[in-house]
Amino acid sequence: MIVSRNPTDLDDVVLEVDGATADAFADAARAARAAQPVWAAVPAPIRGQAVANMAQIVAANKEALARLVTREVGKPYAEALGEVQEVVDTAQFFISEGRRLYGQTVPSEMPDKQLFTFRQPVGTAAIITAGNFPVAVPSWYIIPALLAGNAVVWKPAEYAPACGDALARLLVAAGLPDGVLTVVHGDGPSTFAGLERSLDEGLIDKVGFTGSTDVGREIGALCGRHLQSPCLELGGKNPLVVMADADLDLAVEGALFSGFGTAGQRCTSLGTAIVQEAVHDEFVLRLSAAVGRAPMGDPTQDVLFGPLMTERFLERFENEHLNLVRDHHALHGSTGTGRVTAQNPRDGFVGGDPERGLFAHPTLVTGVRVDDDIANTETFGPIVGVARFGDWEEAMALANGHGYGLSSAIYTRDAKHALRFREQVSAGMVSVNNSTSGAEAHLPFGGNGKSGNGSRQSGIWVLEQFTRWQSMNWDYAGKLQKAQMDVLELPADLAFAL
Ligand code: NAD
Repeated sequence: MIVSRNPTDLDDVVLEVDGATADAFADAARAARAAQPVWAAVPAPIRGQAVANMAQIVAANKEALARLVTREVGKPYAEALGEVQEVVDTAQFFISEGRRLYGQTVPSEMPDKQLFTFRQPVGTAAIITAGNFPVAVPSWYIIPALLAGNAVVWKPAEYAPACGDALARLLVAAGLPDGVLTVVHGDGPSTFAGLERSLDEGLIDKVGFTGSTDVGREIGALCGRHLQSPCLELGGKNPLVVMADADLDLAVEGALFSGFGTAGQRCTSLGTAIVQEAVHDEFVLRLSAAVGRAPMGDPTQDVLFGPLMTERFLERFENEHLNLVRDHHALHGSTGTGRVTAQNPRDGFVGGDPERGLFAHPTLVTGVRVDDDIANTETFGPIVGVARFGDWEEAMALANGHGYGLSSAIYTRDAKHALRFREQVSAGMVSVNNSTSGAEAHLPFGGNGKSGNGSRQSGIWVLEQFTRWQSMNWDYAGKLQKAQMDVLELPADLAFAL
C-alpha cells in the first residue's frame, strides 16, 4: 500500500493506493502495446488536437491541480501554479508540432530515384518520474510522446501518486483511447521488477526516467541489456559563480531563490555559490541576512519555501547532508539546523505548528573547498555551500569538479566572463545573471555527466527521444541502380595545374 501524506500536516492522508506488482506493470505495458498502433494511425494533426484539448483542460483546472501539488508535495502555491502553467505551455508548444513532424526529401546520387525521411513513433514508452515536479516534468515526456504516436505507461513518484492520478485523468479526458496513457503506482523495487519484466517480454521500446543518479545508473544498465538508450534526467550539483563585477544584490536574490526555493528540492537547486575573493565576505553577509529573514512555513501562504516533500528526504537531510559539514566550515542563515520543532524553532515561521510537518531550517555553509564532500554531493534540501576563489581556474574547478552537469549560473557585468563560463562549464544549462533554476517549455532541458546521458527534454529536441528516423528510397528508373557503383562520374582533370 502506498500512502501519500501532506508534508505540511502528516495527519492529512492525501491518497492511499495499492502498489502495482511486476505483473501489473507488465499488464499495463501489454495494454499500451495493443493500443499504440491504433493511436499511431490517428493522423498527427488530430493527435495535435488532443494535445490542444489537454492544454485547455489543464488550464481550466489550473487552480485545483496546483492546490493538490501544494497539498501533496508542499510546494508554495504560487510555484505550484507556475508548475501547472508549464504543463499548459508544453501542450501549447506541441499542438502545432502535430502539423509538422517534418521529414525530408533528400537528393539521390542516382537519377530517377528519390530519397525521403520520416519520423516514426518509437512504440510504447515507460515513464518513471520523481515527485519534486509532480506534473511539469512528467508532462515533458508524456505530451510529446503521445503527440508523436506512442503509448505511455507512467509511474509517478510514490510520494506524489495523487498528482499523478489527477494529471493523467486530465490528459485522458482530452480524447485518448483506452490504454494509450496508463498510470501504475509502485515503490522502487516493484517498479524495477515491472520494468525488467516488460523489457524482457518486449513490451517497452523507450524508457524515460527522471530521478536520482544512482537509480538512473540501474535503469541505464537494464536498458543497455535490452539494447535501448533511455532518456535519463538525473541529479545536479549546480554552481552559481559570483564575479567581483556582479550586481551583488541581484546575485544574492538569485542565490536565495536558487538555493532555498522549493526547500532546495529541485534538480536545478543551487549547490555551491562560488564567489570571487573581493566580494566574498559582503556576499555572505547579505545572503545570510536574506536567508535569515526569508519567509518559510505553510506553503498555502506567501512563503519562499515549505516543507521537505517526504519523510525520506527529511531523514536524509538530517542524517546525511548535515553530516557533510566539517570543522573548517561555518554555518549561517537560521536560528538552528535540522528539523524545525518547538525546541529548535525558526524565527518568523509562517503558519501553524511546524512539528505537524517536515520543515527544516535553511543552512548556509561557508568555507567550502573543492575536495569537500559537500562540494561534490547533491544535497537535496535547504542547504547551500559557499566557496571563495581567487583566479578563474579555481572557480571552474569548483564549478565542474563534482562530475554533475545539469544547470549553472554566473553573475557578472562582463560579457567575456559570461561567454567564457558558457564555454567551459560542464552544465547542459547556463544562466547569466539569473537563477540556476527556471525552465521554459521550448528550450532544451537536460544534463551531462552524472546529471544524465545527454538526452534533452522540451521543445523540438525531445522529439528525438520519442521518434525514430526511417529512411526510404524510391527508384523509378525501371532498372536496378546500385548505390556507390552505378554513379555518374564527372570528367574532372585532377592533375590540372596552372
Ligand atoms: P528516485 O531516484 O529515488 O526516484 C525517482 C523515481 O524512480 C520514483 O518514481 C521512484 O519510485 C522510482 N524508483 C526508485 N528506485 C527505482 C528503481 N530501482 N527502479 C525503477 N524505479 C525506481 O528520486 P527522488 O528522490 O524521488 O527524486 C529526487 C532526485 O531526482 C534528485 O536527485 C533530483 O535531482 C532528481 N531530479 C532530476 C530532474 C532532472 O530533470 N534532471 C528533475 C527532477 C528531479
